[in-house]
Amino acid sequence: MSLATDELLALDREHLWHPYTSMTEPTRARVVTGASGVRLTVDGADVVDAMSSWWSAIHGYRHPVLDEAIVNQTREFAHVMFGGLTHRPAVELARRLVDVTPDALHHVFLADSGSVSVEVALKMALQHQRGIGRPERTRFLTVRGGYHGDTSGCMGVCDPVGGMHSMFTGLLPQHVFGDTPPPPGGDVATWAAGFSALADAHAPDLAGIIVEPVLQGAGGMHAYDTACLQVMREVADEHGLVLVFDEIATGFGRTGPLFVSELVTPDILCVGKALTGGYLTLAATLCTSEIAAGISTSESGVLMHGPTFMGNPLACAVASASIDLLLAGDWSANTARINTALERGLSPLRDTSGVHDVRTIGAIGVVQLDHDVDVEAATATALANGVWVRPFRDLIYTMPPYVATDDDLASICRAIGAAVRAG
Ligand SMILES: *Cc1c(COP(=O)(O)O)cnc(C)c1O
Repeated sequence: MSLATDELLALDREHLWHPYTSMTEPTRARVVTGASGVRLTVDGADVVDAMSSWWSAIHGYRHPVLDEAIVNQTREFAHVMFGGLTHRPAVELARRLVDVTPDALHHVFLADSGSVSVEVALKMALQHQRGIGRPERTRFLTVRGGYHGDTSGCMGVCDPVGGMHSMFTGLLPQHVFGDTPPPPGGDVATWAAGFSALADAHAPDLAGIIVEPVLQGAGGMHAYDTACLQVMREVADEHGLVLVFDEIATGFGRTGPLFVSELVTPDILCVGKALTGGYLTLAATLCTSEIAAGISTSESGVLMHGPTFMGNPLACAVASASIDLLLAGDWSANTARINTALERGLSPLRDTSGVHDVRTIGAIGVVQLDHDVDVEAATATALANGVWVRPFRDLIYTMPPYVATDDDLASICRAIGAAVRAG
């Protein structure tokens, strides 16, 4: 069955949900027919992908090394259950993850998506508290403006206003929300005093702290002062709380360091998105031996999680290949190069009418408008300028594939400029 483009679009509208869309009033979707390097073929035109398919396709599309890793593993076996069985792709990936993250993070749970890895992180923290004799510690301290995924446990720690709390009140546990940490160079002391006071007030109920370190992504592309991470670590240590860093968006060099956790070590770390270079869905939750020991002394004695597709061999094989590819290049200089190009290309927009703020951090560039973006107008204008962007709320932003050239980055900035004026 080979359908013409208009038939595809008609059936898509009739049957398929897209992220955050309505079945009765679907927003426009466009057909992709190919992807190679930094380019997607959208509606028949080759355009630069400024989104890396939501932070994931860091090496671009159809990378020969990643293609080969999947093909080779397919010839061995595509999937086997992980209960009672193990295999080289999972073990080799775990070893790499332990190697590239801080020394204290020693144990790896392979999850099938970012949201699941956050669910596992929350569960680890709760089971650890039970194991050390604190079963009443069931809430989490976090900050406003966060995003941690769409499943129920994750929703509970997402920003209570921008997230979905009011819609799902009966379902969601009531967690504790501190103020959004200040931007780099901001008033860390005042924020820290408020955050510590909240921890003091709620400590007996709290199991842990969960945050996206340094950059809040889907909650609003807000970068904050790294000094806040040390405050979180100190507050966690003072009250015996488990510190969870959700690096699903920030991991693998996106903000500068390979992991922000190199600056301050958490007890639990979630990685995802770029883990497989955008090839397959996979995430991981890493923890320290202390957390693992606490889980083992809880009443079940085991970590209570085990998805059907845990440790999928194809995903693990391509993840290892992606990590090797990243480390083989000068990823740090490359992030700096991308930052320079985005800063140069986007900063002139600061003086454009309708622009509230322009900011870059690592390989990320953000233009915040003073109004909600007209998503369709901005998207169409960017496409007419040869670039795929996906704005949300008041933000038009890019986190390009790391293989984007300076010319590609200049195209992205030009298209974002045009989209800003249109949206
Ligand atoms: C995307 C994201 C998630 C959710 O990951 P999924 O793979 O979409 O489930 C969780 N936390 C952060 C910080 C993310 O950016």
